[in-house]
Amino acid sequence: MIIVLKPEVTDEQIQAVCERIRKEGLDVHVSKGKFRTIIGVIGEEEAVRSLPLEAWPEVEKVMPVLKPYKLVSLEFKQSPTAIRVRDAVIGGGSFTVMAGPCSVESREQLFETAKAVKEAGASVLRGGAYKPRTSPYSFQGLGIEGLKLLREVSEEFNLPVVTEVMDVRQIEHVVEYADILQIGARNMQNFNLLTEVGKTGYPVLLKRGFSNTIEELLMAAEYIAREGNDQIILCERGIRTFETATRNTLDISAIPVLKRLTHLPVVVDPSHAAGRSDIVPELTLAALIAGADGALIEVHPDPKSALCDGPQSLNLNQFATLMEDLKRLVTVAGRKTS
Ligand code: PEP
Ligand code: MN
Repeated sequence: MIIVLKPEVTDEQIQAVCERIRKEGLDVHVSKGKFRTIIGVIGEEEAVRSLPLEAWPEVEKVMPVLKPYKLVSLEFKQSPTAIRVRDAVIGGGSFTVMAGPCSVESREQLFETAKAVKEAGASVLRGGAYKPRTSPYSFQGLGIEGLKLLREVSEEFNLPVVTEVMDVRQIEHVVEYADILQIGARNMQNFNLLTEVGKTGYPVLLKRGFSNTIEELLMAAEYIAREGNDQIILCERGIRTFETATRNTLDISAIPVLKRLTHLPVVVDPSHAAGRSDIVPELTLAALIAGADGALIEVHPDPKSALCDGPQSLNLNQFATLMEDLKRLVTVAGRKTS
């Protein structure tokens, strides 16, 4: 950490600042320039991070040298993390498609969707049993009944299941039926929930909040990793911008940026980014080329009758066509589908 002092500081004040830092068990390196004195803090940066340095009257600016996250960083682990869930692998070079309805509505709906996405080449089944809805009057999901249907269909088609857990109290139910726990955009900074899913040891699909920075996403992942669980899949699902043509703006840049910062796999959710099904295929292909490890795509046998997110859901044929296009592009990109 580098501390820039104010121009008018006296020698006594410089000494006082150094003393205070040494008290934390760290060393200092003072560099006195013509106009400014700079203090380099040597040692575990963590020890001074919690000090309110910017509130000290002698201090003008504090510049951390290290990233605030550690376990999820590329410096900590250079090789990409690949997450194995039954026969599916997320990360490590392949492009993994997770597909299914926004919410589980009935056995028939889920069965039909799972059969079609499996045949088309998806390797994970998605489906919400607990739905975070803006309106309390909208369909809230089938709850445990939905989880049971997910499990049943998952066994039938040998597709691991990813489903959202919205609350700490739901964890015990979700782990009974799901293979991957999804943390939704609205819960990305629900730190108690992150800690508790971390403790389960289950793979976690962590969605970026729609108003959160990339660094905040990585800090959220760090909460999970701190519990000894590095089975984390990061998901870019669109952020809020001034643009109204799409529900959110898919932050394509987040993919290569994250790849330079973390060893964790990065997937995209083009459905929630777009809010409209017509551009989902293009966004998925763009994500593959940008380096994503996979995509989470909403698919419904009859989008016009969907209880949740119909306008952004692909129908079964549209999904099959996208999978064909993806397979061609995966080869060109030197990747493989998993
Ligand atoms: C979902 O996957 O259906 C969902 C609610 O996603 P998000 O948390 O990204 O809005
Ligand atoms: Mn949805």
